[in-house]
Amino acid sequence: MAEITTPRGTKDILPGEVSGWQRVEQVFRQVCGSYGYQELRTPIFEHTELFSRGIGEGTDIVEKEMYTFTDKGGRSLTLRPEGTAPVVRSFLEHRMYGDPEPTKLYYLGPMFRYERPQTGRYRQFHQFGAELLGVVDPLGDVELIIMVMDFYRVLGLHDCTLTINSIGCRECRSVYIEELLSFLSNRLEGFCPDCRRRYAQNPLRVLDCKEQGCKQELAQAPLIKDYLCPECKEHFAQVLALLDDLKEDYVVNPFLVRGFDYYTRTVFEISSGLLGSQDAVGGGGRYDGLVAEMGGPSTPAVGFAAGMERVLLVLEKCGTQISIPPVCQVYLAVTGGELRAPACKTLFGLRRLGISTEMAYETRGMKGQFKSANRLGARFVIVYGESEYQQGKVTLKDMTTGKECLVDEACLFDEVQKRL
Ligand code: AMP
Repeated sequence: MAEITTPRGTKDILPGEVSGWQRVEQVFRQVCGSYGYQELRTPIFEHTELFSRGIGEGTDIVEKEMYTFTDKGGRSLTLRPEGTAPVVRSFLEHRMYGDPEPTKLYYLGPMFRYERPQTGRYRQFHQFGAELLGVVDPLGDVELIIMVMDFYRVLGLHDCTLTINSIGCRECRSVYIEELLSFLSNRLEGFCPDCRRRYAQNPLRVLDCKEQGCKQELAQAPLIKDYLCPECKEHFAQVLALLDDLKEDYVVNPFLVRGFDYYTRTVFEISSGLLGSQDAVGGGGRYDGLVAEMGGPSTPAVGFAAGMERVLLVLEKCGTQISIPPVCQVYLAVTGGELRAPACKTLFGLRRLGISTEMAYETRGMKGQFKSANRLGARFVIVYGESEYQQGKVTLKDMTTGKECLVDEACLFDEVQKRL
């Protein structure tokens, strides 16, 4: 029978890699906690409409990348491709907008997009993100940006570049889009087929095309910054001023737009020079219209999402060592079958104290048991030997120094805890 492997674009996270994931998750939780964000866990699948309406019909994600299926009850469901629309759905469903304070939520988990897999790009990938709902002030944008940058810094990712832009509100953006369309219409033949499709469906996305030819064509394009209304202009100026005050470096890129329709005003992206073509380690922006579009009360909001696999890839490239917790701190070596019963008590007793402890599952020779202890990296071996045990004692061997001593079994737990 042919071997069954992971589906294309997915991968196993093996035991040796998991500690890296746990470390990143732990740092993320800790940083979010200190900024007052609480975790929200939403379902892996949602009604398809949530994404088609929320993300926007003309976007690449909704057009080409969603894992959509009909369940046995005839409902159209979609494996979540991103985390913001589900957070907003939950915010509305649970009437969180009734709270007097802004809502600060974070999430972690798998996302699904039918994309062409390559280094740093998967079909099942993992994001962690945060959303701040109910804050219109530029301090909200800046808080999220600094939170994500702090998170990268705590992890040791120091070479990240923050790129920022404002894409205005619905009103000023629609004036700009008209200008952009008329600019593009005169030179469409110079653009790639993707951009020609975007021209009809989502013209802003032409701005961040990676094709060299398209970039050249765009050199004379009108820039959104020249079309921002006074309120959007002021908002962006305040965001930049706050970032300056807080000494957070950034680059303003007037061509930065993002893949979702819901963004308004500030958009940002964080990239790492250590990654190849898929260099974005995170991104986000303000989405002041989404909550109302989804049927809720008008609520300004801002959020970001970052990719776990890419963060881990950068950490690996930086050579950051993540300490792996030992699989086995103590190994119990037992000489005879009748000593297995008292040794078993010690085995479970030590484990209950949080000390990782192993013992052979069957009676084996001493040499084989020490071999296992070495293979598992045990720090101590406790030997249950007949004659010592008759005196109520066991041998405790320190595997790093090679030194051993006799210990009263009654004091064994204290002794091991003291030495670990
Ligand atoms: P987005 O939701 O598209 O704004 O993406 C936010 C972040 O998620 C990106 O900056 C990447 O780090 C990560 N990401 C997006 N798509 C993928 C993918 N297919 N595979 C791995 N990471 C991804």
